[in-house]
Amino acid sequence: MTQRTNVVVIGGGQAGLAAGYHLRRLGIEHVILDAQAAPGGAWQHTWDSLRLFSPAQYSSLPGRLMPSQEGELYPDAAHVVGYLADYEKRYELPVQRGVRVSAVHRDGAQLRVEGDADDWRARAVVSSTGTWTRPFIPAVSGRREFTGRQLHTVQYQAPAEFTGQRVVVVGGGNSGAHIAADLAHAGVDLTWVTQRPPRYLADDIDGRALFDVATARRRALEAGHTDTGGVASLGDIVAIPPVRAARDAGLLRAKPMFTRLTTTGVEWADGTRADVDAVIWCTGFRPALAPFASLRLRATWGHIATAGTRALDEPRLHLLGYGDWTGPAPATLIGVGRRPARETARQIRELLA
Ligand code: FAD
Repeated sequence: MTQRTNVVVIGGGQAGLAAGYHLRRLGIEHVILDAQAAPGGAWQHTWDSLRLFSPAQYSSLPGRLMPSQEGELYPDAAHVVGYLADYEKRYELPVQRGVRVSAVHRDGAQLRVEGDADDWRARAVVSSTGTWTRPFIPAVSGRREFTGRQLHTVQYQAPAEFTGQRVVVVGGGNSGAHIAADLAHAGVDLTWVTQRPPRYLADDIDGRALFDVATARRRALEAGHTDTGGVASLGDIVAIPPVRAARDAGLLRAKPMFTRLTTTGVEWADGTRADVDAVIWCTGFRPALAPFASLRLRATWGHIATAGTRALDEPRLHLLGYGDWTGPAPATLIGVGRRPARETARQIRELLA
């Protein structure tokens, strides 16, 4: 069956909900299609001990503050899922669950959005599909020969399954540090490897300050001032309490990256080898943009080229969330609704006028 609406939002995680909030405020008819059976986007699937890197109030979507989690300054993922579920209900956002979009096509003045069972014809599309469904693992020599277990951040759940094993965690970002700390606290035999020495942010800096820095950078750039380098210039790892505790206890000593994997482990730069049972790749994500391949859009840096959130080659398509290439802090709970989602809704209103 084909359905018609003004705007289809693909993805019902935090970015999709922020888009829905602003579209609703502007009175723009829309539908939010989400592949999952339940609310919460990627937060439903993170590892057990994950904590936000900002306090609740600084992790809020527009219109409704995230309530504090009792006894926790930094809420856990289940708390975020509860907040997002409540958010979409409170604002009566038109989310349809269990709908996976496979492709988007041009169809005259409209875009045709292909779902599993139904099609939608819309005058604009917002893509907020996130990155969680596209884990990235770098091409490392020997990766196919290694007979131990390999998993990505998205498959890691808890240290219990690694008890008694020798585990290598690869990655010097927040996920790598956090998972390494999780394993180290549990007494797992851990080797943490990073491409460059870990860069911790100052202990008193968490997501609150990062958001302020990202905002200041955007303002400076808009005013024509020199680029301060933004958040990336401060460091890679927010030293949230469990990470800080592991680091201060001397449990997080990073080694430079191994040169290759062998059948039974890793080989270091000096040629020595170590047997390991598992390698956990905390090596990031790529945007989940497969449905747009059919539009053949220009890409820069591996992403669809955009001006803000709008695709350069297809003004009816907006990309929301993902990373800094679509606006200031759009991949954070606090950042996505402040400007990127609001601007997206405004531009769609102009397009539809
Ligand atoms: P998602 O939450 O991934 O939602 C996308 C939705 O789209 C999903 O439900 C997915 O199933 C659906 N979808 C995908 N493809 C399709 C399709 N083809 N058809 C239909 N539906 C589709 N941010 C913070 O602000 N604070 C933090 O502390 C923080 N910690 C993080 C820790 C980790 C480990 C990671 C990876 C990220 C963290 N982030 C944090 C960043 C960010 O907030 C999350 O990644 C967030 O989940 C991104 O939201 P999203 O809506 O863009 O994507």
